[in-house]
Amino acid sequence: MTPESHSIDWGSKTIEFSLHRADRKRVAIEVNPDLSVLVRAPASADLQPVLAVVRKKAKWILKQQRYFEQFLPRSPERTYVSGESHLYMGRHYRLKVHAVDDEPRVRLHGGYIHIYCADPADRASKHELVENWYRDHAAPVFSQRLAQCLDHRVFRKLSSPQVQIRKMKRRWGSCTRAGRVLLNLDLIRAPRRCIDYVVTHELCHLLVPEHTPEFFRLLRKVMPDWESRKTELEARLA
Ligand SMILES: [Zn+2]
Repeated sequence: MTPESHSIDWGSKTIEFSLHRADRKRVAIEVNPDLSVLVRAPASADLQPVLAVVRKKAKWILKQQRYFEQFLPRSPERTYVSGESHLYMGRHYRLKVHAVDDEPRVRLHGGYIHIYCADPADRASKHELVENWYRDHAAPVFSQRLAQCLDHRVFRKLSSPQVQIRKMKRRWGSCTRAGRVLLNLDLIRAPRRCIDYVVTHELCHLLVPEHTPEFFRLLRKVMPDWESRKTELEARLA
């Protein structure tokens, strides 16, 4: 039997898990070293009581994930020196760092991301400047992509959802019960077609909350090539 995917919201976090039904009496939860969560349940169990058990154990699940997270390979630490390559909307740009006395700022110009700052050796402030620059650019891009993706007829009943940008560790997007779409700031590094995939995935969740077959039918209807976009996103921003 193929496992079902489900998720629960816990505060600002979302816990995704796969549900395996088997000939057993009780619900058991495992957190794997790759941070995935496996829930085993009796074959005939209704979903709601299973979700209640997961919710009850949410604190423990998050604690396990935090523990395993320290052993995961990390993406190389960025140093923000001239020549280092950074992505913006799917394209690589090299950094040029300039020492200036006036206001620190970031500019995209001539195929380079220029960082103007007082102390080019100060990694933390360069990091903050670039993150803020990404955030400033992400806001209008994400709003525009949302408006574009929302234009499909299956979404005609949705009133225009609000977008919020978050720095998230392991998710590209999520949405709230109140109909808000949360997008990972790092998504601004991805090509537009990948941003559209995440936005469309979340818009589909506003109609079908869980990863049920109905959800994937809807997603395929709106975006038949969603799987290749997802693969591209994971490959490029790994
Ligand atoms: Zn989802």
